[in-house]
Amino acid sequence: MGNITLTMVKPTAVEKGYTGKILEKITAGGFRIQAMKMFRMSKADAEKFYEVHKERPFYGELTAFMSSGPIVAAVLEKENAVKDYRKLIGATNPKDAEEGTIRKLYATDIQANAVHGSDSDENAEIEASFFFSKRERFNKDGNII
Ligand code: ATP
Ligand code: MG
Repeated sequence: MGNITLTMVKPTAVEKGYTGKILEKITAGGFRIQAMKMFRMSKADAEKFYEVHKERPFYGELTAFMSSGPIVAAVLEKENAVKDYRKLIGATNPKDAEEGTIRKLYATDIQANAVHGSDSDENAEIEASFFFSKRERFNKDGNII
């Protein structure tokens, strides 16, 4: 535990063709990709994924947005992955994101903020299992984790 995070390139960023540039930032940032897929969530999938936010006022809008088109999900590995990835992506609202961060570079607005990043080690494991089976995750030797 403690060395993975789950990311999604959100629908607007996929549609705008930013996936490759975002993956470049991720690998340049020292993260190794354990697993990756393009996937379109149903509304029910998005509601399950964001269940922790179900009392927030933006829950309906967020789950509609996240199921509006394909996303690219990936499990990223690095020491202190959760914390370091949140630093690489920048603040939730791109207006507050630092220069050079993924959200500063590729976000459209606070909702379509380019990427998701897990907020804890525990949620990283839950979110990784949401998208990937163990047979779809690979260690640095190329073997199933
Ligand atoms: P993420 O979980 O996607 O990595 P985050 O942890 O920075 O983002 P959260 O507070 O978990 O932010 O919110 C989840 C997502 O909900 C945000 O990434 C954004 O897409 C959306 N969101 C958050 N706050 C708002 C808001 N005030 N209005 C609209 N959408 C919002
Ligand atoms: Mg979050």
